[in-house]
Amino acid sequence: MSERVAFRTCPLCEATCGLEIRLVDEAVEVIRGDRENPFSKGFVCPKGSVLGRLHNDPDRVRTPLIRRNGTHVEATWEEAFAEIHHRLGEIKNQHGSQALSLYIGNPNAHSFQNNLAIRPLAKALGSPNIFSASTLDQMPKHVSAGHMFGSPSTIPVPDIDRTDLLVILGANPYESNGSLATAPDWPGRLEALRERGGRVVVVDPRRTKTAENADQHIPIVPGTDAALLMAIINVLFDESLVDLGRLDGHVAGVDEIAAGALAFSPEAVASSTGIDTDTVRGLARDIALAERAAVYGRIGTHTVEFGTVASWAVDVIAALTGNLDEPGGMMFPHGLHQPVKKRVRGFTTGRWRSRVRDLPEVLGELPVSTMIDEMTEPGDGRIRALITVGGNPVLTSPDSESLNEALDSLEFTVSVDPYLNETTRHADVLLPPPSALEKSHYDIAFTTLSVRNYAMWSAPVYARPDDHPSEFEILVMLTAILSGAPADSEPNVLAEATLAGQVGSAVAQPGSPVEGRDPAEILEALAVHPEVPERFLDLMIRTAARGDGFGANPEGWTLERLQRHEHGVDLGPLEPRIPDVLATPTGKVELAPEPIISDLARLSTELGEARREGLVLVGRRELRSNNSWLHNIEVLVKGRNRCTLRLHPDDARQLSLTDGSMATVASSVGEVTVEVELNDEMMAGVVSLPYGWGHGQTGSRLNVASKRPGVNTNVLTDRTRIDPLSGNAVLNGIPVEVVPA
Ligand code: SF4
Repeated sequence: MSERVAFRTCPLCEATCGLEIRLVDEAVEVIRGDRENPFSKGFVCPKGSVLGRLHNDPDRVRTPLIRRNGTHVEATWEEAFAEIHHRLGEIKNQHGSQALSLYIGNPNAHSFQNNLAIRPLAKALGSPNIFSASTLDQMPKHVSAGHMFGSPSTIPVPDIDRTDLLVILGANPYESNGSLATAPDWPGRLEALRERGGRVVVVDPRRTKTAENADQHIPIVPGTDAALLMAIINVLFDESLVDLGRLDGHVAGVDEIAAGALAFSPEAVASSTGIDTDTVRGLARDIALAERAAVYGRIGTHTVEFGTVASWAVDVIAALTGNLDEPGGMMFPHGLHQPVKKRVRGFTTGRWRSRVRDLPEVLGELPVSTMIDEMTEPGDGRIRALITVGGNPVLTSPDSESLNEALDSLEFTVSVDPYLNETTRHADVLLPPPSALEKSHYDIAFTTLSVRNYAMWSAPVYARPDDHPSEFEILVMLTAILSGAPADSEPNVLAEATLAGQVGSAVAQPGSPVEGRDPAEILEALAVHPEVPERFLDLMIRTAARGDGFGANPEGWTLERLQRHEHGVDLGPLEPRIPDVLATPTGKVELAPEPIISDLARLSTELGEARREGLVLVGRRELRSNNSWLHNIEVLVKGRNRCTLRLHPDDARQLSLTDGSMATVASSVGEVTVEVELNDEMMAGVVSLPYGWGHGQTGSRLNVASKRPGVNTNVLTDRTRIDPLSGNAVLNGIPVEVVPA
């Protein structure tokens, strides 16, 4: 009997917990939290312990599949790439590049290999039709950050380990484990905050588990967080509570904000938010007068019609109260692979517009909410082929039933995914990546959103099968095919050429730690890593702020040095980074970007309209679920039905609904029938469904999930409703009618 222990980062959510994986005879025996991990300190949630089950899931696809006569049949990698080469080539030759499209799913953010390979793939597509899960999620934050700080990835996070007051809007980190604020063990960290005398305030239409454990819960009408935040800003000016602190001289636009906030007194927003004026004033004073305060808004503030305004207002409040870039406030993490100073590029949106609805491009992509239109509206440029990399938009994007029909109408679909799910069942060719345990791991995205500077390298727990390309190689092959290379190209040769190009750019870049060096010398140093993605990562780390500069700073970091820390490495608390972190042309924090200030007029008009009558629908997080992932793992879905319509008992009484009865929920675009669950955690007038359910569709291969399919909340969401500045879908605050089924 052989035994060994492997340590790796959990790749399933943004918390990035360290895992200890015990193997007996190479089979996973148990997965626990790694107590020696300096960031997660042994914390693990129920999801983290299922990586072995995911690896062994009989439904996980292990070889490429090609659809023949309506059925998916196994194929070799050569056959699969040849089919893609042939079919995509045909469509491109006949209809041009615009007929091709790409959907980038959320799992890409959890894979450094995909982080490296996905943008070149999007570029090689040569089409404006790039979509991603970002416009179902956090795009408003990218847009507000881009305008304010000059880069869409410069996102301040709440310094929860040092703050005295944490105000949480539209987030439930007790169940989600946090997002855009990477922190293993949110519950423990919030409890520590309260134990040291701090306060937690939760603003949410539901008394969530996070609200239950907070000092104060403020119920709010869904979709009105932007109005509340503007009222807080109004009070800060009205009561002379503005104090920029150290940032005085580093910010622009204070007067414009003062003028913009005039229309949003607590009295003006009270009827739309449902929050009385004393509560708003009290909250504004608490934030301003706390020694250290952080205001954190997440999914409920982003997936609404004023997502960008809300996202911006959170950071404005931090700046106006002296809490931006200060310990205990909202701070900028500094990943091991990040440079000292951001390059000034300027931030803009709308460099192209969508063909059908004339919606602006944001971050090189179009809103997912218009993908259906681009697939179904006849005319030049209609999408005829789709590549999906991760994700399951049929369950996660608006107007799902129409998307299902739109995907059926395409001429060709390729999916890179380990499952035949509700989306990839449409694939003509399915390319399965290796399992999570067969991949190396480094968090490019989440170490830049982390509440403490931290890094970890994870080696693969298992070697992947000899004939199975890495995820990186799969994406490089697709890139090569789209660039006109033959179907039997060698992906590593292509990737090495790209790496050589990046090294060339690094040595040519003024101020780079390797400026003027011989590229061959750098490439030789990188060649210690047998896998090409590792060489890319090593280049990033060594030329970053803490890097060794390939010998220029012998005390600095390399990937090899990181690899020696099997439990990860603590790089210290977050430190002030303004002005270095700013990439705006003025070198200042732009507090009043014109597009956002202009959008305040729309918000003001909305306030003037009568409050909507009837019920509105919001989403709901479950600890054992993660978007549409993980419903095929028995231990995570067993027990009571969790895909229920939760509503307040008073609403239920009026609608003649009882606990456990069935109700039909109808919106302007669709209807579902679902089990009712009464719970007074709900604000009256608000009902909730969890996200990512609706399994059991013909052609999918998710045997566990299809036994407990649940209903798809996105049958009810309307693709025409978006946040216009970011293109983000409106997934919360959906007007619905509920009747007994
Ligand atoms: S909280 Fe997230 S990262 Fe941590 S174990 Fe759970 S799923 Fe994994």
